[in-house]
Amino acid sequence: MSSNNNNNDSVISQEIKDKLYETATLAKDTAYTPYSKFRVGAALLSEDGTIFKGCNVENASYGAAICAERTAYVKAVSEGHKNFKALVVTSDHEEFISPCGICRQFISEFGPAKLPVYLVNVKGETLSTTIEELLPYTFGIEQGRKYLIQ
Ligand SMILES: [Zn+2]
Repeated sequence: MSSNNNNNDSVISQEIKDKLYETATLAKDTAYTPYSKFRVGAALLSEDGTIFKGCNVENASYGAAICAERTAYVKAVSEGHKNFKALVVTSDHEEFISPCGICRQFISEFGPAKLPVYLVNVKGETLSTTIEELLPYTFGIEQGRKYLIQ
């Protein structure tokens, strides 16, 4: 995985980024995509250094499908992890594949706003961004606490 841009490269070491990319690639290999054939792999780095793999899992009832990013988050949260340091998303394409809207909302729930999100294409090139850049002006837990919880 080679980095070619911006802001968060100092946050996560190249060694960890390489490990995350390797893990996301392995996750992609387990994607269940009989309908779209569009494989996505994700790797989520927890605060304690644990890395969770996620792949997309499709379903004959299309709406029941889950994305790679949310798979990784659900696995992590169900194991007691709620603080994260980085996310890598990869696919089989030269285009950088970024999280869908539902995943952006899901990711932003856990934060932090500056969470590095590395989009890695099939050539190993990286587009570095953050969840804050992917989902600005998010409706998050702070608004939930303020307006929804009595
Ligand atoms: Zn998604």
